[in-house]
Amino acid sequence: MKKIDCDVLVIGAGGAGLSAAQAAASAGAKVLTVDREEACGGVLCQCIHNGFGLRFFNAELTGPEYALRMERAARGSGAEIRCGETVSSVVRRSDGTFEATLFSAADGVTKVESRAAVFTTGCRERTRANIAVPGDRCAGIYTAGSAQKLMNLNGMLPGRRALIVGSGDIGLIMARRCRWSGIEVAAVIEILPEPSGLPRNIAQCLRDFDIPLLLSHRCRKIIGRNRVEAAEVENMTTGEVMTFKCDTILFSVGLIPENELLKAMGAKLDPATGGPGVDSSLQCSVPGVFAAGNSLHVHDLVDFASLEARRAGESAARYASGAGLPAAELPVTCSRTLKYVVPGRCAAGESCEFFFRPTVSCRRAKLSFLADGSEIAKKMCVSVRPAEMLTMKADVPAGAKNLSFELEECK
Ligand SMILES: Cc1cc2nc3c(=O)[nH]c(=O)nc-3n(C[C@H](O)[C@H](O)[C@H](O)COP(=O)(O)OP(=O)(O)OC[C@H]3O[C@@H](n4cnc5c(N)ncnc54)[C@H](O)[C@@H]3O)c2cc1C
Repeated sequence: MKKIDCDVLVIGAGGAGLSAAQAAASAGAKVLTVDREEACGGVLCQCIHNGFGLRFFNAELTGPEYALRMERAARGSGAEIRCGETVSSVVRRSDGTFEATLFSAADGVTKVESRAAVFTTGCRERTRANIAVPGDRCAGIYTAGSAQKLMNLNGMLPGRRALIVGSGDIGLIMARRCRWSGIEVAAVIEILPEPSGLPRNIAQCLRDFDIPLLLSHRCRKIIGRNRVEAAEVENMTTGEVMTFKCDTILFSVGLIPENELLKAMGAKLDPATGGPGVDSSLQCSVPGVFAAGNSLHVHDLVDFASLEARRAGESAARYASGAGLPAAELPVTCSRTLKYVVPGRCAAGESCEFFFRPTVSCRRAKLSFLADGSEIAKKMCVSVRPAEMLTMKADVPAGAKNLSFELEECK
């Protein structure tokens, strides 16, 4: 069996993993990055539309272009990247180092020993089963991301007439992608009274193509003997039921951070994010284990995932070198108008970037940072909605005991 030694093992080479790898290698660590796919980039590889990189590269790129830039930067800083290798387990040994087991078709089993580990394993899509849609179990039912992979990477069409359930960004992007390929889109339906995706995607993917968006509508039943033939859709306000003829249904009903390996290590997960609870170094409850990107909390922009992962990579390199990390003992809480704040703990006296997901929609809002009940920093936010993450950089005062964030609508 092969054995590899490194300072920092990065699991997952998407937009987050490549950034963490670059940061850790630039800080002087010997870095190994592993991905189960045959190419780097993660979900970026199947996102052939543009709109990536505006913040991180100050350029508008497609997903594959963004991935290529990240890969070059990571390799250029000295990180080794191995694709086609799946990490099946990571164990923290009694001396505090880690042993990971890798499988690959080409090399069989490899053991990797490292001083620190960064988890950037992305997320997975919720399916029809997660939202319990009754009806027939026939062919033609996909998650939006798997249909995207089928079309953009495998060159196949999922069907001829599609209904899209859920107005998350992947569903919106797939509505446009279907139309580009000559697939009719009957409608995008959304159970909530407002869309779940970004406003720019509503405009560019639905309005520009005259694709109807039916809010407060749910898929009540799927009908089809072998292949989907129709779907029953209920108007949640009036109770009216419509039957849409279609041969394909794409579900875009949310994403779940991918953390099976972390769970097996005993890392504590945060029910609000679905990812591990982390401190300001992005270190989990297991010392020496760091997380970033969609496996930590679901991001709407890859740029934020990469920026966040840079911090995880730097922290992991520092941990691996034996230099201490700030003692992040101050818990950070948030008001009910925010679903979560990441990180959930930080150290007095440090400067930190916080990420939030609002639970409310409003035109203008004030995001306040409070130390021991007094506002010490604020940010005005326009067009706040759950579909868009909020961020804020703040200095944590020395001597603070309680930290919290509040989001308040401005009338
Ligand atoms: C359809 C779609 C459209 C989007 N559009 C935009 C947009 O226009 N602009 C924008 O900025 N952002 C967009 N995003 C969001 C952005 O692309 C993602 O948030 C970001 O790329 C996620 O990066 P990640 O590295 O966290 O996860 P991923 O890209 O999912 O990478 C995770 C990697 O981990 C690997 N992995 C997981 N488990 C293992 C294991 N056990 N062993 C080895 N490898 C493993 C996976 O193979 C994968 O490569 C879009 C996302 C989607 C899905």
